[in-house]
Amino acid sequence: MTDPAALLRPAFDRLKAGNLQRRTAFGLAERLRALDRLARVVKDHRAEIAAAVAADLGKPEVEAELVEVLPVLSEIAHCRRNLRRWMRPRRAWPTLMMLGTSATLHPQPKGVALVIAPWNFPFTLALVPVVSAIAAGNAVMVKPSEMAPATSTLLARLLPQALPDLVAVATGGPEVSQALLAMPFDHVFFTGSPAVGRIVMQAAAQNLVPVTLELGGKSPVVVGEGADIARAARWIAWGKVLNAGQICVAPDHLHVARPLMRDLTAAIRAEWQAMAADGTTAIVNDRHYARLIGLLNDATAQGAQVEALGQDHPKARHMAGRLVIGTTAGMAISQEEIFGPLLPILPYDDLSTAIDAINAGPKPLTIYAFGGDQMVSRLRDETSSGSFGVNLTIMPFLHQNLPFGGIGNSGMGAGHGQAGFDTFSHLKPVMRNRLTLLPLLFPPYTGRVRRLKDWVLRLLA
Ligand code: NAD
Repeated sequence: MTDPAALLRPAFDRLKAGNLQRRTAFGLAERLRALDRLARVVKDHRAEIAAAVAADLGKPEVEAELVEVLPVLSEIAHCRRNLRRWMRPRRAWPTLMMLGTSATLHPQPKGVALVIAPWNFPFTLALVPVVSAIAAGNAVMVKPSEMAPATSTLLARLLPQALPDLVAVATGGPEVSQALLAMPFDHVFFTGSPAVGRIVMQAAAQNLVPVTLELGGKSPVVVGEGADIARAARWIAWGKVLNAGQICVAPDHLHVARPLMRDLTAAIRAEWQAMAADGTTAIVNDRHYARLIGLLNDATAQGAQVEALGQDHPKARHMAGRLVIGTTAGMAISQEEIFGPLLPILPYDDLSTAIDAINAGPKPLTIYAFGGDQMVSRLRDETSSGSFGVNLTIMPFLHQNLPFGGIGNSGMGAGHGQAGFDTFSHLKPVMRNRLTLLPLLFPPYTGRVRRLKDWVLRLLA
């Protein structure tokens, strides 16, 4: 078998050499042009992109355009509108000791970035970090997911065609990621599972390559006192129907105040069935389909009740939604990220119980709250998560003026909008001496220097 590293190294070397050569030449105008070319290629191949994603994930093409083409184009448009401002040196005001100097932070490209993407939004999650990396002036190597082969092949054809000097695509599985991770990239942006995140960080450590880890986990939704039941049901159902719940920020499970449980469950059931009526995304492959059935079987065997919200079509890997009631902490469904259309519903008598349950697990990527101000504020302040949504699901992920990222087990660093630009930039402090008086404290330490030192200490301490 051919060694993937031998095939990939020349592509890396080419990106690196181009990057060094461009150094000052990749200014605002060139970056805007590169982003334009990227936007053009996405617009020109819209239908092909939707078809590739639909083939990989068996999803309606309308949804494929909405979740794969639109976010990429809107990220490019957002970068184009703001790039001039983001690229400007940022002033750092002098502190008392620094009077007589001026200082700025100069955003500079890190160099050559590596983007490793997952399969669940195979186009968007590969492209959005590429947009940020290019906006920040980097060259990029992209490793799309082998579990979305049609999209990977398309990316490998379109990206180098649009930006031959700036982007290379390496297709393949973990062995390709491993070969790439052994190379001295200047930044690694990884989106995927916490388990692989650990492997990526360990590999990057060998070359001291900084990493951004966009990971997953179990993001809970909590519905409490004061919640608008109809609204909560609509957003929760949507969060599970979209992409068949295969979203890092999908509501994983639901904690609900016991008096609201019956009405909320009925409303979720109705919304879910209506939204899924026209068909939903398939489960990505047989392994994941079997994994989800395994979670249900394990829960049922241990006494949980499962209600199916429709018919399964295992051949096409279309799985009906399931409401799961009576789960306990020891069940697999309570421990691993569900990443599918199953919703455990857990009633609570006191909000503290739900908060304690959340705090007992790893820090989630996001937490969603539906309820009155007091309940929402308590949940926000007494828990820790990458982000926090009120009266909605999924949306914080789409807000380009909000950094998107996790904390602890759900990741580190952030992407999207300016946060993405900053991730791929080094904000280099540049300090200039205008007329600092510091040399008055230089040695030799005469009596005058000592008196001045005492005066400065009194002034500052
Ligand atoms: P994954 O971690 O299995 O794979 C992600 C990428 O890593 C793929 O390109 C894969 O080829 C590569 N990879 C797999 N094993 C590897 C190894 N041993 N060494 C090096 N590289 C390896 O994740 P997935 O199944 O594609 O995606 C689902 C996961 O991603 C879920 O946990 C989900 O929550 C998370 N996710 C997070 C975000 C986010 O923005 N935070 C977005 C989407 C998905």
